[in-house]
Amino acid sequence: MANEHRVLLEVGGLIRSAADVIDGPSYVLWNGSTIEASGGGVYDGDRTGLHVVRKMSSVAMPGLVNTHGHAAMTLFRSAGDDVPLQTWLTEKMFPLEQQLTAEAVYWGTQLACWEMAVSGTTCFTDMYFYMEESARATLDSGLRGILSVGLLGFTEEMQKQGIADSRSFKAGWHQRGDGRIQVTLGPHAPYTCPPAFLEQVTDLSAELDLPIQIHLSETAYEVEESHRQHGKSPIAHVRDCGLFTRPVLAAHCVHVNAEDIKIMAEHDVRAAHNPQSNLKLGSGIAPAVALRNAGITVGLGTDGAASNNNLDMFEELRLAALLHKGVLQDATAVTASEAFQMATADGARAVFQPAGTGTLTPGANADVVLLNLDNPSFIPTYNLLSNVVYAASASDVTDVYVAGQPIVVNGEPVTMDTEQIRWQVRRIVGKFSR
Ligand SMILES: [Zn+2]
Repeated sequence: MANEHRVLLEVGGLIRSAADVIDGPSYVLWNGSTIEASGGGVYDGDRTGLHVVRKMSSVAMPGLVNTHGHAAMTLFRSAGDDVPLQTWLTEKMFPLEQQLTAEAVYWGTQLACWEMAVSGTTCFTDMYFYMEESARATLDSGLRGILSVGLLGFTEEMQKQGIADSRSFKAGWHQRGDGRIQVTLGPHAPYTCPPAFLEQVTDLSAELDLPIQIHLSETAYEVEESHRQHGKSPIAHVRDCGLFTRPVLAAHCVHVNAEDIKIMAEHDVRAAHNPQSNLKLGSGIAPAVALRNAGITVGLGTDGAASNNNLDMFEELRLAALLHKGVLQDATAVTASEAFQMATADGARAVFQPAGTGTLTPGANADVVLLNLDNPSFIPTYNLLSNVVYAASASDVTDVYVAGQPIVVNGEPVTMDTEQIRWQVRRIVGKFSR
């Protein structure tokens, strides 16, 4: 490959992974979209033709992975606060979502990509409507998206349409942008998708070789209703529909018992832990430590901006590290390193990426975030990773690369027209009846 695609990033500190932190001069070298080398000290290989980016007052870390969300729900930020989930969903969100258009989803998703990029997220998941527009917006933004058509199975017609849309979404978008766009299947939840439909989705997942993302056991009410209707928990219910014969990412898992956790571990079901969304909707706190202790891969997510109300993964990272300490009255419950692992490499595994993704080690995607070491959050640094988890925030992010390409440079998005996004979203939302 031609040398002009090789970039040598020289930095003042490097978090190669949660377990490998260098507090001092270090480097990351990528060739095209893939990391070729990284380490402490000065790169001592051949520098001929290398494009050198020198950022000695920055620390480089892997991009954050947002494992659960509905990107275009940025359009409904602050539209339904301080109400429980069922009210929020049926009285606030569903009526607003009736007014969505393809154009609205494009600009709502661009807004989400802007917000995520400047707060250090390089890869996110989306399950929503008009997903071709979400994919287009993601492709245009330069970010990496694990995207699924949100499937609601209230009527047979909706089920048919959802299956057809998922098929054409895969045909049109899977692996576009050199693999930055990846398609998954997105049955919304067992309470919106009847058993026969979940079985169909399972079959489609096998046929198209696509993994599945779904909301599971988000609220106590959902679990009670599942017991009433099916005589078992949502986890046991979808297992019996065959869903776990396929790779599954389960969002929330707030109300899971020991048996549910055992089922999830047996089937390698991944969990997306969304602490802020679960707190805000009064749903509860997922037993992330118990899930991890059972060997389940747990990633972190924001959920949609309408239930968070931002897409800042630094907040989730910090909250995941703090929350379980308080709940379990154990300061070692989730360490900085474990929280960082969830926000990066475990998040990548949760969203079905190959091993090594979510680190800055050779062979991984060059998805790199730089934080400003000259900011107060990094003065002093007894433990660089602790500074990132417990002190840093999105405002420390200066530069973001995805697949080796600059997305944010010196704090400014370079792939997205933020003035246009701002104008379009205000125009579109101004027309919604609320
Ligand atoms: Zn969700």
